[in-house]
Amino acid sequence: MAKRKKRPDPFAFHQASEDLGREKRKARDLRNTQWWKRQCDRGRCHYCGRPTPPGELTMDHIVPLARGGLSTRGNVVPCCKDCNTNKKQLLPMEWERYLTGFKQEDGPAGE
Ligand SMILES: [Zn+2]
Repeated sequence: MAKRKKRPDPFAFHQASEDLGREKRKARDLRNTQWWKRQCDRGRCHYCGRPTPPGELTMDHIVPLARGGLSTRGNVVPCCKDCNTNKKQLLPMEWERYLTGFKQEDGPAGE
């Protein structure tokens, strides 16, 4: 019986639930920061760029927590309900196609 090296799981389906819980807590904390408020104050969805009232923007993880994404500033963006719903329903490939439909001038990302 050859011992096989454990390879990193690219899909991380069985990420420890305590990790998930920790990241969810971090997301909640992040939502209370001035930084997040500033993101929402822009009143614009990160994905489609549509003007959206800050109160209607939701926090979205670019890489979902379920796939090993983290609750870090680099991985969370404000997005509108439409995009949030679509992102959940579409496959990653379909989602990318959805995004390219919005290709528009957008200043250099990052701060
Ligand atoms: Zn949107």
